[in-house]
Amino acid sequence: SDTTLVIRDAMVAKKLSIFLIFVLLSFTISKAYNIVSERLSVWKTNLRRNSYSGVYQTRKDALTMRAWTCHGRTQREMVDKLQQAGIIKSQSIRDCMASVDRANYVVKPPSGPYNDSPQGIGYGATISAPHMHAHALEEIVTYLQASAKKSELSVLDVGCGSGYLTACLGRLLNGGDCESNRQQQTLRGKVYGIEYMKELVDFSIENTKIADIDLLSQGVVTYQVGDGWKGLPEKAPFTAIHVGAAADSFPQELMMQLDVGGVMVIPVGPDGGVQNLYKVERLRNGDQFQKEDFTFDNLLGVRYVPLVHLNQNT
Ligand code: SAH
Repeated sequence: SDTTLVIRDAMVAKKLSIFLIFVLLSFTISKAYNIVSERLSVWKTNLRRNSYSGVYQTRKDALTMRAWTCHGRTQREMVDKLQQAGIIKSQSIRDCMASVDRANYVVKPPSGPYNDSPQGIGYGATISAPHMHAHALEEIVTYLQASAKKSELSVLDVGCGSGYLTACLGRLLNGGDCESNRQQQTLRGKVYGIEYMKELVDFSIENTKIADIDLLSQGVVTYQVGDGWKGLPEKAPFTAIHVGAAADSFPQELMMQLDVGGVMVIPVGPDGGVQNLYKVERLRNGDQFQKEDFTFDNLLGVRYVPLVHLNQNT
């Protein structure tokens, strides 16, 4: 009977260890399942983040879109291609970009001014690629239209560099050569371009004088030396603020110069590192900066020159 007992004990031990192995195995499987599904959801979120307002729908699309640069031989051809690619969506952006000749805003004599790529303009700055200007304008225009009832809109372009985007915003706000704006007579206002490099302020002015001098003489567009981190408090609040250089953190002082219902389009991220273009909207007023008063929308991955800190207090 001793032998029976030993055999029975052995069988119990065997059953117990099988049970333990089973428990361990199911635990491991459920853990692995959790990890995989978590990774999957992160991947899905990133995919959504990379998607750009319906332009980049899927990863495959995103790759095709990025590879598809909208080079043109003329301003019109460049704008046509941006429209075909779905980057320019609205007639008003089409018109305002078509009416500002990019050849006047690059280094002279112009070389490949209608290529869909950034170009050096000296002082460590670049005129952004046309598709980035189109993206920014498309984001901004809906907010301008929503606030169009205001007698005069104010827009701030931080790091105006070449002046190209500032002039486009000027056309968007004042009409001028901008066909659809002239017809609708909706958007009116002023654009303030600020730049910390005096030489680039002069470059912007010279460029705008070539064919868009009416914007300057009518006071629709003004350029001045200024620090983007500090903005332009005397002209605030702004319905839209465009920042043309990558901030290493969200600039609170600048965000506080947004009007309620206003929008900021800004690249954020370290110099040379992972940067994202954000759309920041101000939801409500407040004397003190509070993150909760804003919404943050990550639009797409980008590469910009840094928004320079001019002194240690900024
Ligand atoms: N939208 C411009 C972009 C120029 S590149 C264009 O397409 O032409 C970015 C610009 O930001 C540079 O001209 C740079 O001199 C400027 N910049 C960088 N740091 C700045 C700061 N703290 N204040 C104002 N401008 C700044």
